[in-house]
Amino acid sequence: MKPIPFQNTYANLGTDFFTRTRPSPVANPALVIFNHGLSEALGLSETRLSSAEGTAIFAGNRVPEGAEPLAMAYAGHQFGNFVPQLGDGRALLLGQIAGADGIHHDLHLKGSGRTAFSRGGDGRAALGPVLREYLVSEAMAKLGVPTTRALAAVTTGERVARQEFLPGGVITRVARSFVRVGTFEYFAWRGDQAAVTKLADYVIEQHYPACREASNSYLALFEAIIQGQAALIAQWMQLGFIHGVMNTDNMSIAGETIDYGPCAFMDHYAHDQVYSSIDRHGRYAYNNQPSVGLWNLTRLAETLLPLLADDHEAAIEAAQTALQTYPVLYERYWLDGMRVKTGLQTRDAHDKALIEELLEIMAANRADFTLVFYYLSTLHIDSPGQDGYLRALFNDPQPYDQWSRQWRDRLRQEGSNDATRQQRMQAVNPVYIPRNHRIEAAIRAAEDQNDFSLFHELHAVLQNPWQRQPGKDAYLLPPEPHEVVQQTFCGT
Ligand code: AMP
Ligand code: MG
Repeated sequence: MKPIPFQNTYANLGTDFFTRTRPSPVANPALVIFNHGLSEALGLSETRLSSAEGTAIFAGNRVPEGAEPLAMAYAGHQFGNFVPQLGDGRALLLGQIAGADGIHHDLHLKGSGRTAFSRGGDGRAALGPVLREYLVSEAMAKLGVPTTRALAAVTTGERVARQEFLPGGVITRVARSFVRVGTFEYFAWRGDQAAVTKLADYVIEQHYPACREASNSYLALFEAIIQGQAALIAQWMQLGFIHGVMNTDNMSIAGETIDYGPCAFMDHYAHDQVYSSIDRHGRYAYNNQPSVGLWNLTRLAETLLPLLADDHEAAIEAAQTALQTYPVLYERYWLDGMRVKTGLQTRDAHDKALIEELLEIMAANRADFTLVFYYLSTLHIDSPGQDGYLRALFNDPQPYDQWSRQWRDRLRQEGSNDATRQQRMQAVNPVYIPRNHRIEAAIRAAEDQNDFSLFHELHAVLQNPWQRQPGKDAYLLPPEPHEVVQQTFCGT
């Protein structure tokens, strides 16, 4: 077995940033799934991680040669309240590896046992959330959304105590970075300016090297992070994705979707959809996500102020100017993306109203978000007769009929070609998303019957979300009333 080429750049930052911790071994590890494609992309093909030795590594029973496992320190605003110390309470960073593409990635175990940051927790993960994170993060990757990836999932052969005893699991995650907004907050709260600077320098060096060329590289870094978040959240919105726990400790500075907990894709469209059982006031509801992004970035700005300018007032002004670009960027990413989703190639002043009207009609008629856009991408301009499937998604199809006349007029006006428009639309409007009831069924079979067939089948379907797969229509359908998942849980 060839060793994993670890670099351990984070470990070089010094022990203020983490505590060195070895994973706690588990009783009887078994591999559930190994991501061969990702392993190859990371240049790990020759490490034979799909072997029994790999399983031992993914379970935390063996520390791979060259790794320097550590639990990262971070703080965070959780539902708006600041918690000065969170940190990896059930996760460990094994180290950095340079991918085949030269890009550095962090390799992380989650569910690997207690650390100095575990507080009252057991440091473990139940199998259900591990499977959920594997399915959803890999689906997001295939949907083209920046995200942490899943390299492997194992069962531990042990039970974890939650509301009830559940089988345990460990997921191995890969990210551009596990540095969070909360990592900056951790040091800023302690007044450790040297550490904030060191962290910012590290982030620039590792992830935003172009910022070094800017006259104010820290401001350039902040601007780059703003841009990344605006783009990311616009993509979530365009797919009906609800993260569920957008605390600042769950916001990556690398612009990736991170820390999948009670996340969910919505079925029927509702502006204020919430699934997370812990989000009682809807702080992280679907339509709040763009503004929460700004709120979180403002917390990041507060930690960076001393770096943005020598003079405090000037620093505040620089931060505010940068933050003001966020709503503008978000709006642009969102509208451009929605134009592609609805097949509009040119820009017209009325596009936003047209798109919002569709969303209103969908909300009023409980139309399935994913299927509306998918069926829209199959239509021809001059044959309204084929709108049957689409109309059937609306409780009352009349408003849709009206809207579709406007939409067709708009397409005619730009001389839209059916074939090329359909192709463009089908590259952004998925057929398959990881629907809650499918994830739930896969988890139930795995947890209750040790049957992973539904998990594997769902995972396989989600590998190609853009094309209809023979015999897989069941995966395209919204839940039947008795299958609807009302709430999702982080299971921590
Ligand atoms: P999360 O909900 O995964 O974003 O976690 C929030 C914080 O709680 C992080 O500091 C986690 O490390 C910690 N945490 C969550 N679950 C556990 C657990 N089972 N044991 C120890 N710490 C945990
Ligand atoms: Mg977290």
